[in-house]
Order: sequence, then structure tokens, then C-alpha cells
Amino acid sequence: MTPALESYAEHAAAMRVFADEHIVPFAHRIDQEQQIPREVVERMREAGLFASGFPERLGGTPGSKADPVSATVRHGMIHEALGRASPSVQGLLNVHHMGGSAILRWGTQAQKGEWGQRLSSGEVIAAFAITEPEVGSDASAIQTTAVPVGDGWEVSGTKTWITCGQSADIFVMLTQSERGPLAVILPRDTPGLRIEPILGILGCRGYMLATLYMERCAVPPERVLGQPGFGLSHVVAEGLDNGRHNLAWGCVGLGQACLDASLHHAAQREQFGGPIGEFGQIQRLLARMMTDVHAARLVCWSAAVARGRRDPSAVQESFMAKYLASTMTNRVAADAVQVHGASGVGPGSPVETAFRDARIMELIEGTTQIVERAIARFGLQGR
Ligand SMILES: Cc1cc2nc3c(=O)[nH]c(=O)nc-3n(C[C@H](O)[C@H](O)[C@H](O)COP(=O)(O)OP(=O)(O)OC[C@H]3O[C@@H](n4cnc5c(N)ncnc54)[C@H](O)[C@@H]3O)c2cc1C
Repeated sequence: MTPALESYAEHAAAMRVFADEHIVPFAHRIDQEQQIPREVVERMREAGLFASGFPERLGGTPGSKADPVSATVRHGMIHEALGRASPSVQGLLNVHHMGGSAILRWGTQAQKGEWGQRLSSGEVIAAFAITEPEVGSDASAIQTTAVPVGDGWEVSGTKTWITCGQSADIFVMLTQSERGPLAVILPRDTPGLRIEPILGILGCRGYMLATLYMERCAVPPERVLGQPGFGLSHVVAEGLDNGRHNLAWGCVGLGQACLDASLHHAAQREQFGGPIGEFGQIQRLLARMMTDVHAARLVCWSAAVARGRRDPSAVQESFMAKYLASTMTNRVAADAVQVHGASGVGPGSPVETAFRDARIMELIEGTTQIVERAIARFGLQGR
């Protein structure tokens, strides 16, 4: 291995060790209790995971400015390691990186000064609020309003399915104003904001989802993010682009967890006088899983390199990475259940949890259908 690749391998291994030590022991509890324990978040803070992907001058990971390609691949590896350990924890970091990247890309100098270090340290945790009861895929149709009052705005409406809605400190929120889509930063202690947990979802049960009800929430000018009219096309687009990239890596981690468990089970479980891994049909499942996970990881690498280089293809690559990795992880999770037989569906089986978690991956950061539409449109451009 070249030194550069060796250092990537070391970073990936270090992230796996971190996740094995500080997240895996809590994974089952997170699924059962639908909460991420404070100590998990604290260990992530200590490890500097919240800073990854943010500009170095605003508290982002040291060295990322000098070598943005390496920093972006390493950032992806963090999300892969968390996705392998607990997709719910990956979700927490993902929405933080989505909200944070939107603020640190489109915020004013004053906003970057106010939030940069606090987001990077994880002192403040961000979430991202677009979806509403009547509006999902078509974000341009949102109904939450921002009405001008004095030199600021007043926000009213409902946001739902908000990851970390129960716990985040601030929400990057998309509203509709008379001057077009408007993105705002809404701290959770804003008067008029009421938060209602959503419990009992199929998978990623530690996402700590919530519905947010806003009743004439005052938004002063220093909480407006970017220009009115640019809330969707610029601010939210930045967050979603980051989210698709992060989630793609997270899906690779989830697929890897299913693969690891399946290889172990196939080697240990004996039927008809030998390990089931000796049977050709099981080998075919394993071969497909191995190749699927590997292929998705390579596409994530390619997307990360493009992002690090600020290549114009980067957005398209992240779409494709999210598409491949989220559909891959569903195939692989289903195959993992098949390899495990009954022990793959029993209570407490990591494969059972992974199967449920995988379903979520084709719904968030753009459903599979919306992502397919976007990718095809990239292909058709100029034809
Ligand atoms: C676990 C979880 C976490 C989430 N976290 C967040 C969050 O943090 N912040 C946030 O804002 N939102 C969040 N969401 C919401 C998520 O972004 C939406 O669920 C998603 O955008 C799809 O919207 P919808 O569920 O309303 O489905 P709809 O938009 O109603 O779509 C229903 C079906 O129709 C299909 N469809 C829609 N339009 C088209 C089209 N033009 N062509 C073809 N098919 C189409 C969709 O693919 C889907 O299969 C979360 C959702 C879940 C389940």
C-alpha cells in the first residue's frame, strides 16, 4: 500500500475501533429505547466528530484546508463507521453536518462567528427541517410561512419527521415568504415553538424524530440564512447535498455490518453435516453482498474525491452514491436475513435491526424515485 492509502486505512480502522468501543455496545439499547444516550454524544464530541467537514478556520478538523480531498474521504469514513455501528447515531451526525454546512456556507460573517466553533465542537447540535405533513418530496410547495414583522420575520407552520427534533439545539428551517423560499435558524428555545416526539417507527428508531409546531415564532434578522428567495436553491440545497454524501457512506457501513455478520454466521452455522458457507447458494449470496458493498464504497470514494476537488460533477456523484448505496444496503440486509435464517429475524438480532434500518435509507435525503429522477436529468442535460 502507498503511504497515502495506508493512512486512509489507518483512519478507517481507528474509526471502527472508536465505534466498536463507544457506539456498538449501545446499539441495541438505542433501538429499544429510541434514544441516543448522552454518553455516546459526549464520546463523539471528545473524538472531534462534529467538526468534520466544517471549514478549518471555523473550528473544522485540523489539516482539512491543506488537503480537502483527504479530509472529505476521511469525513466519509466517519459516517461509514457510524453507519456500521448504529445508523441512528450516523443520522444524528448527518443532520448536524447538514444543518451546520448550510450555516457555515451561506451564513454571514457574524453568523459564522456566532455558530462556527459551537457547531464544530458539538456544543450546539443542528438539525434540518423541511418536511411538512402535506409536503415531502416537493420541497418547493412548503406551507410554513415567514411574515415580515419589523426588521425580522414571524414563522408559523408545522414541520414533521425531523431527525433529532427531540434533541437538537437549533433547526435550519425552510419557510415560504413573500420574497420566495427563506431559510432561517430557529433555536429550540424560541417562544412559540412546540416539539412533539414521534415514536414507534420501523427503523432508525434512535433518530429521535419529532414534529415541530411553530406559532408566530419571532426570527430576528441575524437568524435569517442567506437572501430571501435563495432558501431552497442555495441554503437547503447545500445541506441536502452534504446529507446525500454522508448517508451514502453510512449505507456502506450498514451494508458492511450485514456482510460481517453473514460471513461469521455462514462459517459457524452447520447444517447437513457442514458449515452453511460451503453451500453454493449461500456462497452466491455472500459473493453478491461482498461485491455490492465494495462497489458502493468505491462510488462513495469517487464522490468524496470529486467533492474534495470541488469538481462540477460532485453533486451528481453524491446523488449516484446515495442511490447505489441505499439500494445496495437494502439488498444486502435482505440477503443477510436469508443467510441467518430464523436467527436473522429474532428479537435482539443485529441483522433484524439492520433490515429495518435499511428501509429508511431509501426514503430520506430524497426517496429512491426522486434520486432516480435527478440522476436521469443530469444525464439528459444538453441532449
Ligand atoms: C426516518 C425519517 C427521518 C427523516 N428526517 C427528516 C429530517 O431530518 N428533515 C426533514 O425535513 N425531513 C425528514 N424526513 C422526511 C423525508 O425527507 C421525507 O419522508 C421524504 O422527503 C419523502 O417525502 P414523503 O415521505 O412525504 O413522501 P412523498 O413525497 O409523499 O412520496 C410518496 C411516494 O411517492 C413518490 N414520489 C413523490 N414524488 C414523485 C415523483 N415526482 N416521481 C416519482 N415518484 C414520486 C416517492 O418516491 C414515494 O415513493 C425523514 C423521514 C423519515 C422516514
